[in-house]
Parts: sequence; C-alpha cells; structure tokens
Amino acid sequence: MTPTREPDPSAAPHLTPQPQASSADPVAVVGARAPKRWLPKRVLVTASAAATPHGRRIVERVQAAGVQDVRLLRADRLPPLRGEDERATYALAKSTLAVVTSPPSARTLVPIPPSADWRLDLATGCPAHCQYCYLAGSLAGPPVTRVYADLPEVLSSMDSHVGRGAVTTGTSARHGEGTTFEASCYTDPLGIEHLTGSLAATITHVGTHDWAAPVGLRFTTKFDDVTPLLDLPHGRRTRVRFSVNSAGPSGGERFEGGTARVRERLGALRRLALAGYPVGLTIAPVIPAPGWQEAYGALLDDVAAATADVPELDLTAEVITHRFTPKSREVLLGWYPATKLEMDPEQRTTKRGRYGSVKHVYGKETMADVRSWFERELAARVPASRLLYFT
Ligand code: SF4
Repeated sequence: MTPTREPDPSAAPHLTPQPQASSADPVAVVGARAPKRWLPKRVLVTASAAATPHGRRIVERVQAAGVQDVRLLRADRLPPLRGEDERATYALAKSTLAVVTSPPSARTLVPIPPSADWRLDLATGCPAHCQYCYLAGSLAGPPVTRVYADLPEVLSSMDSHVGRGAVTTGTSARHGEGTTFEASCYTDPLGIEHLTGSLAATITHVGTHDWAAPVGLRFTTKFDDVTPLLDLPHGRRTRVRFSVNSAGPSGGERFEGGTARVRERLGALRRLALAGYPVGLTIAPVIPAPGWQEAYGALLDDVAAATADVPELDLTAEVITHRFTPKSREVLLGWYPATKLEMDPEQRTTKRGRYGSVKHVYGKETMADVRSWFERELAARVPASRLLYFT
C-alpha cells in the first residue's frame, strides 16, 4: 500500500469487534478473547517523522494493521483537525494517529509525584473514550494521539536524570525502585503499542542499558495486548500497572469506552507477572457510589484470584479517588454531554494548588472512609500487594 496525501474528512472511531466473555473469573478468561486493538481511520506523518527509522517502522506497522489512509505531509505542521462542532472535532481527532517528532519540552523531563521521579513521554493523547479521562483539559487542542518518531532522542534524555529525583530516588519508602520514569502521564502507551512499537523499544532499552544507578520504568494501561511484551529483556526494571475500576451498574468501568474490559486487564496482568514483570494496580478513579464497598471488594477478590499462584509476585497498588478541575469538567461535558458521571462542584470540596489551580475532590470524611477501607481490604484480600499511595 502506498501512503497518500488524499484528505478524508469523515471520522468515526473504529475499534475491532470483541467477542463476549463468558466467565467472571479473571484467571479463566486469559486468552479467551482477542486483545483490544485500536485501528485509526487515518494516520498523518510529518516530514521530519517520516525521515526517522522509527517513524518509517510505524508507517509499515499501520499499513500492516490495515489503515488505508496514511498521509505523508510535506512539512511538520499537522493540518487543522476541526469538525463542524465539538462532537465532530472529537470524533475526527480520536480516530487520527499523528506521527511527529517530539517538541523540546518532551525531552526536558519534569517530576511527576506521587508516581515517579520523572515523566517520560513516548506519545501524547489516547484513542479510548473514558468519560472521566484525566487528559481532558491537560492537552491543548483536539484530542489527537501523537506518537514521537524520534524515540532514540527521547530515551537519551533519561541518562542525565538517573540518580536524581525526589519521589523514589533517595526516599526511604520507595528507594528500591531506583530512579523512576513514568511513561503514561499523557497517553496509554499499550493502547497504541501494536502501531508504534515504542513501548517494547523502551522496555528493552531500560532492561539492557548500562545505567549509572538503578532505574525503573513505569506505565499504566487500560489495554490488554501484552503478548509482544512477554519475552522482552525487561530485567524486572519495568513495572506495568493496570488501571482498574469497579464493575456493575454504579461501577467506574461503565464510563470506560474503547478499552479492554477490567477482567481482561487482570488476565494481562497475570501473564506479565508470570513473565517476571513487576506489576501493579492503579485503582482509579475510585467513585464511592452506593454499594462501592461490595463493588471494589469484588474487584480485589478478582485480583487475588488472578495472582494467587504467581511465583515471586511483585504487586503494588495506587489508589486515586475521582476528581476534576473546572477545565476538565468543561471539556468532558463537551465530549460526553449525556454522561451520568457525577461532576458537581457543589458535592465536592475544593482543593487549591500551589499556583491557584482548583481541583474538586470528595469531602474529608468520604476520603478518610475510602482510604481506611482500601488500606484494610487490600491487606486482607490481596495480602501480596503493597500500597504505594492514596490520593
Ligand atoms: S485509557 Fe486513560 S488516557 Fe485513555 S481515554 Fe481512558 S482515561 Fe483517558
């Protein structure tokens, strides 16, 4: 197939159909379904990206995946991706993959507490449709997924940060993780891995490079296509966390469109743990709707069932309650006007950041209840897990 410059203004997210699972047991469903794979409607490749070896490999991958509309641009500027209204712009952007080179800001690493010492962006944007998406309001412009073709340059920024940092490096609680790099701040890197190969290259780099001090790569995902990662020389230096939520009519999972189902993510976690990866749970966003204790209790029981017989299991947990900002609320209500997700500032407590930023979080009493419940139930139901933080 030859890449073209033909425009195609039509846009609709296209996701591969998934057969239905028949079992509630996360262990039993491993391998029962095809993994969730996004197929963009169009791929735009900037001139500089097309000139890189990694960019050219991405073009080969998207063509092999069956993308018909691959456009090689003459310059490095992406064409405007705006539809007639907010919904049309959203649909157009969410069905587009842009292959670009990284801006200098992506190679200037910044701290990212409480997750890791440094943020490492392999891409920005995500093709999924979560109604609480934490990217809403964080990234400017239409939500196009942009992957960086100059991956070696991005990875080369890591060396000068090793041995530095304040989240894990030199801390008493988490120093064992080494200097940590978080690759999922602005994307879901596994959700686009079948098209990019960037994650496998990064895991291999972290696992085999001669570092000046211990290093840890971390990322979190709502996808399950882990087969290409299983045999990589990861050296137990990459922790893969699965972002999971409660199921059921009031559960958080119902707000997650275009992702693998939670039980499939747990099956993927199990496979990675059996392949020797340190793994983790990002339980987020916790929504204490009526019946939440039963719903999250069932989730923890599923985690225990999926990991009970994994030898040398290294399993962490991060628990993040639902929150929103005025900006993210506005963006999300534009994208998902009929959402049933509660985003009422009146029902929340306002938290102010260092530079006057506003965040709407649950009240003090609710936060204390949720925190003590997770501390107790994680220890009781998934005793092999280690809680890293609650927020
Ligand atoms: S998977 Fe994560 S990044 Fe992607 S839409 Fe959902 S919340 Fe946003």
